[in-house]
Amino acid sequence: MLLTAKWVLPITRELIDDGAVLISKDVIKAVGSKEELKKVHPKEPLIDFGRAIIMPGLVNTHTHLEYSAFRGILKNLSFFPWIVELVKKSRKLSLSDWKVSALLGALECIKSGVTCVANIISFGPGFEILLQSELRGLAFHEVIEIDDAKADQKISESEKIIQYWKEKCGNGLLNMGISPHATYTVAPRVFQSLSEWARHNGLLLSTHLAESREEYRFLKMAGLKLSWQSKGVSPVRYLEQLGVLDDNVIAVHCVHVDKEDIGILKEKDVGIACCPRSNTRLKVGTAPLSNFFESDLRVGFGTDSLASNDDLNILSELKTALLQHKIPPQQLVKMATLGGAQVLRMENQIGSLEEGKQADIIVVELPFDHDDIYLSLVDAEKAKVIFTMVAGRVLYERDKCQTLDEKSISAQIQKVQSKLR
Ligand SMILES: [Zn+2]
Repeated sequence: MLLTAKWVLPITRELIDDGAVLISKDVIKAVGSKEELKKVHPKEPLIDFGRAIIMPGLVNTHTHLEYSAFRGILKNLSFFPWIVELVKKSRKLSLSDWKVSALLGALECIKSGVTCVANIISFGPGFEILLQSELRGLAFHEVIEIDDAKADQKISESEKIIQYWKEKCGNGLLNMGISPHATYTVAPRVFQSLSEWARHNGLLLSTHLAESREEYRFLKMAGLKLSWQSKGVSPVRYLEQLGVLDDNVIAVHCVHVDKEDIGILKEKDVGIACCPRSNTRLKVGTAPLSNFFESDLRVGFGTDSLASNDDLNILSELKTALLQHKIPPQQLVKMATLGGAQVLRMENQIGSLEEGKQADIIVVELPFDHDDIYLSLVDAEKAKVIFTMVAGRVLYERDKCQTLDEKSISAQIQKVQSKLR
């Protein structure tokens, strides 16, 4: 199949005017000019998208699809009151509610051009919804445990869950990971054990790190009477001392980090998932993205969940990042695609349009009045995703999702949300 459009953005090469991408099954076979590829492959079925841009799918490096029903529920709360309310309201939902909620999240990803998602799973349904949606992704089993004596128990529980997922996962699009929730909800020995176990089993580890001032104070100063509290170090230094930080780690947020912390993150080659809009919503501060960029860290964007965001559109994260930092829009677009793939250690498979990579492709329609392609792309209100493909399979085209039933999800989600209001 030949996809053609006014522009093709391979990410690893310059923008191609009147470009084309040749796909065979799940793989990209060639990227180049429309004229040339048509000449070489005259019999290939062709879809022309006209005045649009063909580019690699967006990568969401951190979200919780299960919490999608919480959109608009927890408003104007700062971090800790927000997390308390989230836990309280979560008790009102059943397993089937969590499933509907995750369905809404997966649908939003597909419609907004996310082709690969790092999804934290707290209740279970988030995994089967990833399978059903046919998105590519990483499923992270979340662990919260403040009792150090339960380290072995947590490992055996996690092992069973991840094994169960592996057996169910036949589509080849999903990988598994582990997610100790955060420094303040997972005791140090549990954190260490999970980290060693993940490394030994070749799993990625994702954790919320240095997100709020409260977390920073908790580790830096005295206060709560927990065994691992009062270390007098920053959150990044704390995990470094525990031996957790490594190139299999995705550190989510990293708002409260100083120069020394950034040095540690670079030295340990930790991937960073930046979530600008969630940070703004929860009033935790702004991550020093420009410094991450200058230090050449592996950085991608995440939306976090709809409990702290309005939508799961990665292009909207770019818009916020553009307003907050002096980073060229072209670089932001790269972070949202290849950067995200690097954070998830999937850069050999996805993140750019290159021969041999997986056909994870989106098409974005741009407004007529733009001067700069990259600037238009980061304006999610104007740039409209019209086509989403994962591994050569079309998931979304002409306002219709092929794998999930939008009408049925809209009807069901209203009932779930009425429980939360
Ligand atoms: Zn999160």
